[in-house]
Amino acid sequence: MRQPLVAGNWKMHGSAQSVSELLGALVEGGVPEAVEVVVCPTYVHLPQAIDLCRASSVEVGAQDCSHAVEGAYTGEVAAPMIAELGCQWVIIGHSERRAYHGEGEDLISAKLKAAMAAGLKPIFCVGETREQREADEAETVVAAQLRGALESVDTLAGLVIAYEPVWAIGTGLTATPQQAQDMHAFIRGELAGLGVDPAATRVLYGGSVKPGNAAELFAQQDIDGALVGGAALVAEDFQAIVTAA
Ligand code: 13P
Repeated sequence: MRQPLVAGNWKMHGSAQSVSELLGALVEGGVPEAVEVVVCPTYVHLPQAIDLCRASSVEVGAQDCSHAVEGAYTGEVAAPMIAELGCQWVIIGHSERRAYHGEGEDLISAKLKAAMAAGLKPIFCVGETREQREADEAETVVAAQLRGALESVDTLAGLVIAYEPVWAIGTGLTATPQQAQDMHAFIRGELAGLGVDPAATRVLYGGSVKPGNAAELFAQQDIDGALVGGAALVAEDFQAIVTAA
């Protein structure tokens, strides 16, 4: 039995005040014990978020990490630095990093290794663009992303996958529960071929998850939770999605 996981990816949003309000509401409202809840603010808000979540079961993650442990990498933040703060999680390979920062499979694979070595649990993102889906290439693309990043990583225990179709991110277009379920089942099949235990690996859906569509997505057999963007910035919406899990 896989524990449901709902993670909020705050992207480049937030201020000291909004972080305090959002997490204040989440911690006060409480989260169901059965659901693992993670929030991923910007690097600069991590210490504040960790402080605010200390007395609750809400866990904190970063949105990215460097492939390197330390050195002359201006602007980068290393996985051990994130772990030292008290973070447990890190998002790796988000489609916005792939699209705007040119991240490819080799770099993503190195980041996964760096995260694992530092004791962080990666939420590894995959997903096709609209053009790729329309060309019937969605499965081929996702399989290549999985293989390219995971093949050379030795230990993948605890890895979480997030399937985020790029066309559904921030667009209000959600994959239908059936489209998401089909891809999640496909991903599980691919994981087995990569030596990852598919029954033990959580696969989250991401892309315009809202209180109104969360329950039917979570009802699918192979959907173990969500990686939430916009709705994670609204305390009551995020809470409603967590409750639906
Ligand atoms: P939205 O929920 O805003 O579509 O974003 C999804 C996402 O990219 C989470 O990582």
